[in-house]
Amino acid sequence: MASELEPEVQAIDRSLLECSAEEIAGKWLQATDLTREVYQHLAHYVPKIYCRGPNPFPQKEDMLAQHVLLGPMEWYLCGEDPAFGFPKLEQANKPSHLCGRVFKVGEPTYSCRDCAVDPTCVLCMECFLGSIHRDHRYRMTTSGGGGFCDCGDTEAWKEGPYCQKHELNTSEIEEEEDPLVHLSEDVIARTYNIFAIMFRYAVEILTWEKESELPADLEMVEKSDTYYCMLFNDEVHTYEQVIYTLQKAVNCTQKEAIGFATTVDRDGRRSVRYGDFQYCEQAKSVIVRNTIRQTKPLKVQVMHSSIVAHQNFGLKLLSWLGSIIGYSDGLRRILCQVGLQEGPDGENSSLVDRLMLSDSKLWKGARSVYHQLFMSSLLMDLKYKKLFAVRFAKNYERLQSDYVTDDHDREFSVADLSVQIFTVPSLARMLITEENLMSIIIKTFMDHLRHRDAQGRFQFERYTALQAFKFRRVQSLILDLKYVLISKPTEWSDELRQKFLEGFDAFLELLKCMQGMDPITRQVGQHIEMEPEWEAAFTLQMKLTHVISMMQDWCASDEKVLIEAYKKCLAVLMQCHGGYTDGEQPITLSICGHSVETIRYCVSQEKVSIHLPVSRLLAGLHVLLSKSEVAYKFPELLPLSELSPPMLIEHPLRCLVLCAQVHAGMWRRNGFSLVNQIYYYHNVKCRREMFDKDVVMLQTGVSMMDPNHFLMIMLSRFELYQIFSTPDYGKRFSSEITHKDVVQQNNTLIEEMLYLIIMLVGERFSPGVGQVNATDEIKREIIHQLSIKPMAHSELVKSLPEDENKETGMESVIEAVAHFKKPGLTGRGMYELKPECAKEFNLYFYHFSRAEQSKAEEAQRKLKRQNREDTALPPPVLPPFCPLFASLVNILQSDVMLCIMGTILQWAVEHNGYAWSESMLQRVLHLIGMALQEEKQHLENVTEEHVVTFTFTQKISKPGEAPKNSPSILAMLETLQNAPYLEVHKDMIRWILKTFNAVKKMRESSPTSPVAETEGTIMEESSRDKDKAERKRKAEIARLRREKIMAQMSEMQRHFIDENKELFQQTLELDASTSAVLDNSPVASDMTLTALGPTQTQVPEQRQFVTCILCQEEQEVKVESRAMVLAAFVQRSTVLSKNRSKFIQDPEKYDPLFMHPDLSCGTHTSSCGHIMHAHCWQRYFDSVQAKEQRRQQRLRLHTSYDVENGEFLCPLCECLSNTVIPLLLPPRNIFNKLNFSDQPNLTQWIRTISQQIKALQFLRKEESTPNNASTKNSENVDELQLPERFRPDFRPKNPYSESIKEMLTTFGTATYKVGLKVHPNEEDPRVPIMCWGSCAYTIQSIERILSDEDKPLFGPLPCRLDDCLRSLTRFAAAHWTVASLSVVQGHFCKLFASLVPNDSHEELPCILDIDMFHLLVGLVLAFPALQCQDFSGISLGTGDLHIFHLVTMAHIIQILLTSCTEENGMDQENPTCEEESAVLALYKTLHQYTGSALKEIPSGWHLWRSVRAGIMPFLKCSALFFHYLNGVPSPPDIQVPGTSHFEHLCNYLSLPNNLFCLFQENSEIMNSLIESWCHNSEVKRYLEGERDAIRYPRESNKLINLPEDYSSLINQASNFSCPKSGGDKSRAPTLCLVCGSLLCSQSYCCQTELEGEDVGACTAHTYSCGSGVGIFLRVRECQVLFLAGKTKGCFYSPPYLDDYGETDQGLRRGNPLHLCKERFKKIQKLWHQHSVTEEIGHAQEANQTLVGIDWQHL
Ligand SMILES: [Zn+2]
Ligand SMILES: [Zn+2]
Ligand SMILES: [Zn+2]
Ligand SMILES: [Zn+2]
Ligand SMILES: [Zn+2]
Ligand SMILES: [Zn+2]
Ligand SMILES: [Zn+2]
Repeated sequence: MASELEPEVQAIDRSLLECSAEEIAGKWLQATDLTREVYQHLAHYVPKIYCRGPNPFPQKEDMLAQHVLLGPMEWYLCGEDPAFGFPKLEQANKPSHLCGRVFKVGEPTYSCRDCAVDPTCVLCMECFLGSIHRDHRYRMTTSGGGGFCDCGDTEAWKEGPYCQKHELNTSEIEEEEDPLVHLSEDVIARTYNIFAIMFRYAVEILTWEKESELPADLEMVEKSDTYYCMLFNDEVHTYEQVIYTLQKAVNCTQKEAIGFATTVDRDGRRSVRYGDFQYCEQAKSVIVRNTIRQTKPLKVQVMHSSIVAHQNFGLKLLSWLGSIIGYSDGLRRILCQVGLQEGPDGENSSLVDRLMLSDSKLWKGARSVYHQLFMSSLLMDLKYKKLFAVRFAKNYERLQSDYVTDDHDREFSVADLSVQIFTVPSLARMLITEENLMSIIIKTFMDHLRHRDAQGRFQFERYTALQAFKFRRVQSLILDLKYVLISKPTEWSDELRQKFLEGFDAFLELLKCMQGMDPITRQVGQHIEMEPEWEAAFTLQMKLTHVISMMQDWCASDEKVLIEAYKKCLAVLMQCHGGYTDGEQPITLSICGHSVETIRYCVSQEKVSIHLPVSRLLAGLHVLLSKSEVAYKFPELLPLSELSPPMLIEHPLRCLVLCAQVHAGMWRRNGFSLVNQIYYYHNVKCRREMFDKDVVMLQTGVSMMDPNHFLMIMLSRFELYQIFSTPDYGKRFSSEITHKDVVQQNNTLIEEMLYLIIMLVGERFSPGVGQVNATDEIKREIIHQLSIKPMAHSELVKSLPEDENKETGMESVIEAVAHFKKPGLTGRGMYELKPECAKEFNLYFYHFSRAEQSKAEEAQRKLKRQNREDTALPPPVLPPFCPLFASLVNILQSDVMLCIMGTILQWAVEHNGYAWSESMLQRVLHLIGMALQEEKQHLENVTEEHVVTFTFTQKISKPGEAPKNSPSILAMLETLQNAPYLEVHKDMIRWILKTFNAVKKMRESSPTSPVAETEGTIMEESSRDKDKAERKRKAEIARLRREKIMAQMSEMQRHFIDENKELFQQTLELDASTSAVLDNSPVASDMTLTALGPTQTQVPEQRQFVTCILCQEEQEVKVESRAMVLAAFVQRSTVLSKNRSKFIQDPEKYDPLFMHPDLSCGTHTSSCGHIMHAHCWQRYFDSVQAKEQRRQQRLRLHTSYDVENGEFLCPLCECLSNTVIPLLLPPRNIFNKLNFSDQPNLTQWIRTISQQIKALQFLRKEESTPNNASTKNSENVDELQLPERFRPDFRPKNPYSESIKEMLTTFGTATYKVGLKVHPNEEDPRVPIMCWGSCAYTIQSIERILSDEDKPLFGPLPCRLDDCLRSLTRFAAAHWTVASLSVVQGHFCKLFASLVPNDSHEELPCILDIDMFHLLVGLVLAFPALQCQDFSGISLGTGDLHIFHLVTMAHIIQILLTSCTEENGMDQENPTCEEESAVLALYKTLHQYTGSALKEIPSGWHLWRSVRAGIMPFLKCSALFFHYLNGVPSPPDIQVPGTSHFEHLCNYLSLPNNLFCLFQENSEIMNSLIESWCHNSEVKRYLEGERDAIRYPRESNKLINLPEDYSSLINQASNFSCPKSGGDKSRAPTLCLVCGSLLCSQSYCCQTELEGEDVGACTAHTYSCGSGVGIFLRVRECQVLFLAGKTKGCFYSPPYLDDYGETDQGLRRGNPLHLCKERFKKIQKLWHQHSVTEEIGHAQEANQTLVGIDWQHL
């Protein structure tokens, strides 16, 4: 179908291009009926431009639309060429001082915690950087899209509303200047005309609902039968469902289906079929049929193509309007005017209204376009913003209802604009007073929650999924209410008061529906069958928490409002109580001669609810009243007389008793829902408006009651009245009732009740309850948190309640109470309590959970013991109560209280047989302490005319009256002081007695008379001293004993560490102090050590004994014994790569013989250094394999290692491994034959070898020619003339045991398999190459690490590294013995030919394309295969030396050829040293051989310097290589750090100090070799600049540079769009830290196929960038991601820290983040050391959930 249409499209294009915008505009200017004229134009052209086929052509459509449709409008508007017209308008414009930048998804936004009016006020990055706030305490977040920059909005900022850029314009702006004055009358008129027509057209067509019919004035004359089958987005169906359905319905590929689904998700709709009506209808029915069984079918419409065309143009038009008004504020004003003008149909008929009201019917794409237009027009114009706000408020109810039933996310609903309007304080105030917004919001909310119980309370029981979904949406209304209230009025008008109180009424109605909701009854006998629904109610409570607090804040700002609100609240509370207190009969209680009437009510038997918002609001208001001036001056004005204290306290008390009973285990059968409710009731998220307020309400009530009455009611509610009202009840109780549970229960209840009394008297830190301010309150919270343990900033923040601005107020006080300790390389910064704050510690702090309380108690006692103080934790000194609450202290000295205390002390004194507990006693002691502190303070503050009425000391000195005749409390305390069973509380009792004496003294002494020491105190003091001394002595003994034990333990520990040394070195730390580099032989410092060649230093053979970690047996490493192996991990690596774009295309054919100097992909080997018997390891591995198979059958779980790929964990350290390396003795010694002839020089040697090679090649050819006659062969051999004493038929005997041979093959095959990613094949000729390659590459990577860290080459290396390199080198040197001799010889010949050309090898790489170290290793390790057949007496050492010299010279030539790039003319003087003249001479030769293509001769100094620098890495690697190969100790000079050890290296490597002597000594052969190298065509191409080559020294690869400020990364990522879905913002932009690529991770759009599996962008990238290993930064999450292969991955802590030394993974806190260089270096080090995979392994072992993540989809 598409192909048929194609020519038609082309033809139309031409006719369209002939349109002239100027002419059309001219015609319009003349028109009498402009609307008709324009509509005709659109009707004719729009369908010709848009929707010409199954797929959109956006670029072509845009181009044509601009030419034919928009162009004329611009001409018309400007009255001239818009290319001149618009710039003129722009110039005349006085630009707005508002920024108004609309945020993209993921763009960073900034809010100032000091100056923003509320957290919704944000700045764009540019404005922020130019504002004063960058030096304030700011918060950074990423935008979810939508919303705009508030720069320039004076209402949004308390200070600094303008950034530098927007400040420029402020001076000129007159208040409310009409922007139209800058436009000419003509322009105004024309703009008005064209805007009115176009805006109306767009609205009309976008809201058009018919599917095949256009509005009459747009209908075409001839109508084609072309339709679209349009699929719409919903939030019900998943991607997978849509893709699946589409594939079935429209017969498309999966890829196309993904494309459709992605567009539908992004734009909200997409045509999935184009054709005649029938054809589209058919697709529609299939889609509907396929999805009808799900919650609801997918929405599909068959629409006529012309309708779709007009709608597409309508969208284009709206964007066009948005950009046109950018030219001038005048144009913007006109558009606003047009938009809000009421149409002929009156109310709600303006274009803006029409759009808003059809919002939920529009598709996503259309919504975002018009929302954006609203933001850039209506919300940017101060005058129209107000008018728009009114329209918005008037439609509010409808918009919200639409939103609730709509299924799109809130960000796609017009209702979401509320945040832009309601948070503007002046608008919010206006809407409250003029539109009664508060009441509207609350009523709308209530309308959506219709489920009520019989009493009219909300009921959330048995909520259906749909209702739950609706409930979630309804909650956005609460958010709106919050926005409205977010800034408190500074001035109140009468209207505002009236409307606010109206709103308050509505709010009370809402709370009334919550008061007592979800009531519960204690379950007895059976456990409840179904956990009741409780979350909905708590969600509501939680969401409302801030609103309730804000309501109180508003009330507090105006006394009149406060008093009115208080009255209203009280009235509602009384209504509530009327509802459900029936059936409670009155009873009378009496204790100690006091009696009170109350009702009979048992929490454990009747209904009780935890939801009491009305009581709690009243409590809040009461506190505010108490703070107000009225309360001090005219308390009679307050409506306090209407209060009935018993009524006030009743419900909060029940709630607290419920908590106590739950704690006592009485409600176990009610299940977890109740436990959860109690948890949240106390939780930091809720407690402010729940638990805290209940305590305040009790305080309020009690302060107005006789404390004795209160205590009796409380006893009754706790169901403890009997125990304390009946003398000796306790005794009877414990003897009669043997049921242990009940005793336990009652004990807990008594403890809880005492705790409550402590809280009622002690909790005075809310301003209004006590005489404190907000700072004191927050200080106290922090002190108590830090009393538990030192905490990180974020931990502290989490433990404190946040206000609606997400502030805890912590920063303002933290310095005063805590010290900050900086973080190290891991971990986070910590706050520690200042010691002087410890005295403010209150063990019974009401926000402690039980666990926290006991932790804090332990920590504080420990602290005291450390300071050698007594361990009593007496109550702290408290601030005085406010007057309204002052009488609360009398609880402490009330008769009933004294009776309770006395009773409990009595139980303790009579100790045995009574049911009492130590914590009960501890609480009583605390209460007594509080009372003493109180009395002391009263006495201290007493003024002349007042009498201190607090007489606790007197009361407790009096013994009990008849008939009980109990001893006084004081006497009992004195008795208890010596009770052996109360050791723990002794210090506290002593403290009480001491304080008692002090208080008594104060009371007795008059200020004038000196205080006489009473006898009692002296005695007490002296006994104390004695006691103290005794204690000190005991402590000393204890300390000594402890120290001894500690010493023993640390000794044992040291032992353990020695034995398991490796265990403590799990990470490959190069700076680890433990190490063993040297083969412990003592080396005389003056001896010259030589690592190779005929003069190699002979090392006495050392016997090596090792222990198997599996069977613990010790064994010597010997040639003929069983193999010992090291666990090893082989991996491909690109860490050293200089060319990341290169990768092996076809591994089966790839020839790895020559390593390119770009080192693009190497094979790295590492080991944890743990040694096992080969057979022990095999047994272990088999068992791992078997276990894994069983496990996979049982539960399809992944493990951190892949057994099928040969992976296992080291049995000792759990380090990831995939093979083993055999341990060997230096292999050279085994093969070395006696040298019985003079050793040849280089020239001779090369000749000999060349001859041998020639002979071999000849023989090889003979063998491969299928001539069956053996005689002919021998003839030819004769022809060849074998070199003297060369016996190619000789086969050396393999000296190794079978077991070692087997392991040589095992490791060789593993290297081959991993390095080339092929199936294992031990016969493959490439196996030996891969072994040598891995040895070379691993040495190179270690050399790089050492150089980068400025470590000496032979400095201390961790054992595991040392062991690994030694084994690896020796293994590689021995491997040829298990390979085919002729294969190895073949490799040698080919390698050799690359330097010494011969006829049979062509097509070898030129010397610029060979990594010389790899070549060296290959040649040296392959050489024995040739040498073993040579009986002329040339030693291996000679060969090594000549190979080394030859390769070194080739490398020098390589360096010279590539180094001469920069030339500075300054050093023209003659060469000053030998090397300089030598290098110049060499350079001249080169110049000659290259036919002068080499650049002109630079200075010798310069050349020498670059050769020296370029060759260093090679020399260092060679030194390591020969050191491990031959076991010659390293010269001591190279073991210490220092600058360059050039000379020492040369000596060690048997090189002349002047390297150029090599050339001079061997000039004969070298000249011809150099010539042959230079004549290579690639070298010529390079010199002629046609290709590039690697230069030396190669620089180390680093991870990319990260910016210091994290937000610039976020900004960078927000500008990044998905590379595959055309300009779409990526959801998870992820940065490759190796190469800096940004990827679109974790998303369908960027999945690619890799080895037959779909993988995400990151995994795909690791294969090209890191050969399977990747290090990424997930920018939105601020999280480092490690990936290895498809199944392995972990998250790693990011290198960004906030000012408190904490990372912010997930960017939840939004504190500014800065780069921590040390942590970043650590990540880089992991990469350099090839430890990323190992790190992942450890992380996955430690955290099993990481194993389950589908890493390949990231
Ligand atoms: Zn801005
Ligand atoms: Zn700005
Ligand atoms: Zn600020
Ligand atoms: Zn063993
Ligand atoms: Zn290990
Ligand atoms: Zn993508
Ligand atoms: Zn990369």
